[in-house]
Amino acid sequence: MANHSFKNFATVSERVQWESALLEAAKYMPRIVKDAKTNTSDIATRAYALYFGQYDKARWTRVVATLSAIDFALSSAGVTFVRVYTGRGAQNCAATQAPYGRWKDQTPGMMSDSAHRRQHGYVMTVGDDFYTADNSIDRTIKMAQFNTLCHEFSHLVSNTDDPVYGNIQSRALAISNPGTAVACAENYGFYCEMLYAEYSRNG
Ligand SMILES: [Zn+2]
Repeated sequence: MANHSFKNFATVSERVQWESALLEAAKYMPRIVKDAKTNTSDIATRAYALYFGQYDKARWTRVVATLSAIDFALSSAGVTFVRVYTGRGAQNCAATQAPYGRWKDQTPGMMSDSAHRRQHGYVMTVGDDFYTADNSIDRTIKMAQFNTLCHEFSHLVSNTDDPVYGNIQSRALAISNPGTAVACAENYGFYCEMLYAEYSRNG
């Protein structure tokens, strides 16, 4: 896998859980990007309509760019994952942290440049709640971890926000304010989770 690095993981089990979620996301993200790309003004996939609302060229472009950047970051960018023992509540699933420099301005091309990466590498912190997360559609930890990872990567590579939390809330946002939905981390997390569930079920 990509030359990611892992810091401060106290146990092998914790690191393996994080790495498994990473590997799963890296494996399925190309198909998820493909699902997003097939959307047109005439045909919207079920998952796309649920989480990003009605098709609009500019919004669709943002969704495809975000998912493509996540795909790139997972498979080739080289992110440093730092395990942080917060001991606190649900606010600390896996928070992203701006690396030295201005990550909001970094493009996948810049991320792939090794000299640039040494100076302005991407850093993601992994908090306690990643290991007990159950905020998925089916309430299982495995799905919640996949969802969380996609949610956090959208913050990392595409500067998404958290205007709402939760599956029902993100679906409602896609209807009431699709412009905000395409910049909301939860919408990416649940969109990816829904497709992951479908693909992993059908092989
Ligand atoms: Zn978030």
